[in-house]
Amino acid sequence: MMIYETIIGLEIHVELDTKSKIFCSCSTEFGAKPNENTCPVCTGIPGTLPILNREVVTLAIKAGAALSCEINIVSKTDRKNYFYPDLPKAYQISQYDIPICKDGFLEIDLRDRNKKINITRVHIEEDAGKLIHLDDEPFTLVDYNRAGVPLIEIVTEPDFRSAEEAVTFLKKLKSILKYIEVSDCRMEQGSLRCDANISIREIGQRAYNKKVEIKNLNSFKEVGRALKEEERRQKELYNFGDGYRIKQETRKWDVVRGITLAMRSKEDAHDYRFFPEPDLPAIHIKKELIEEIRNTLPELPNKKARRFMDEYDLNEKEVEILVSDKGLADYFEKVVAMGCRPKDVSNWIVVEVLRSIKKAEVREIKAESLGKLIRLVDQGTISRLVGKAVLRDIIESGKDPEEIIIEKGLSQISGEDELKKIVDRVISKNPKAIEDLKNGKNKAIGFLVGQIMKETNGKANPAMAKDMLIKNLNET
Ligand code: ZN
Ligand code: MN
Repeated sequence: MMIYETIIGLEIHVELDTKSKIFCSCSTEFGAKPNENTCPVCTGIPGTLPILNREVVTLAIKAGAALSCEINIVSKTDRKNYFYPDLPKAYQISQYDIPICKDGFLEIDLRDRNKKINITRVHIEEDAGKLIHLDDEPFTLVDYNRAGVPLIEIVTEPDFRSAEEAVTFLKKLKSILKYIEVSDCRMEQGSLRCDANISIREIGQRAYNKKVEIKNLNSFKEVGRALKEEERRQKELYNFGDGYRIKQETRKWDVVRGITLAMRSKEDAHDYRFFPEPDLPAIHIKKELIEEIRNTLPELPNKKARRFMDEYDLNEKEVEILVSDKGLADYFEKVVAMGCRPKDVSNWIVVEVLRSIKKAEVREIKAESLGKLIRLVDQGTISRLVGKAVLRDIIESGKDPEEIIIEKGLSQISGEDELKKIVDRVISKNPKAIEDLKNGKNKAIGFLVGQIMKETNGKANPAMAKDMLIKNLNET
């Protein structure tokens, strides 16, 4: 059996976070009524002319700068011609030979090493509308709200050698694009969509074999699944001498069946009859603008991670989670700024908060509330165990932690008399554990402290309970 390697390249379409569309002043808002955000320009009425939205250029430069691209001082737009009902002009205004950004890269962290993924280009273009196919109806509806929404298309070199590498790249790319605020990157709303090219070749072979394009993968999970399945399909064909059956084509991912299906043979560039867009002048970008954008890019995830490790003495694992999302990283620093120990804050966020909000399906817990809660645990007003319960309460009621503690009488039992009664009771109720302890089975201590915590609904101070327990046993 031959040994093969997998070659993957990605094309990622990202909807830019502008208020208005790329060539008209229609709103880009998601979720409007069908065809509400349309005008003669974005519905392709003959005689209308496009005017380029300046913000689109700025955001594209920003993305290019964050991906270490060269920015072309002069670029141009081109018509990409194809006929499809979601494309009202029967051409898409895109960029062909001179994109705004080219020759960049992004480094990804693999388990054992870093890998540089080269970025061929980043260009701007307009999105198409949406077709709505109704069951049991002999017609299709079209919604042009998305027609003319600005996109950047990010094209990588075929540098990936596995589905995992591709997914790792996408996650990092998404995080960066969110950091620099060029897009909300909501994959479920189609703000970030991925097409993947994949081919297989024998190890040592230089030329590429025919590649297949898988279209519109809209979650990281499905990108991974689709690429793995297509890799398997192609390897199997080559292994049985049926490699000739692999065509240059576009395939669609069937999420339910877990297979790729042939859609259409893939057009070559010349099929699109690209030519320069005659209705738009060339795009001239001032060097000062590029400099300004490069100089004002926010701190990107890698740099932030290094700073978090140095400044807050956190480990790699927790930092990775905290910086994965800019909102989360800002949240962490906000709570730290309230005077909590960074290590505690990180621990609460990573272990408790993320899990709790996921379970309760809420967006967030106010930084002020979490800061107060951490301080109350730190000061010993409540135990950590009770703290967790209070956290759940904050999520449910949105109340202030102090209010919850007073209302429910959750303050720690630190009064000696009160605690002693409970300790005595636990000792008399657990003769077997006491016997074990006397026979040198020290594990019994943990069990007994656990019983005390249970009796007090977690309100005892565990360290104090343990001391008292040992003292009491030594006396008898
Ligand atoms: Zn419009
Ligand atoms: Mn495109």
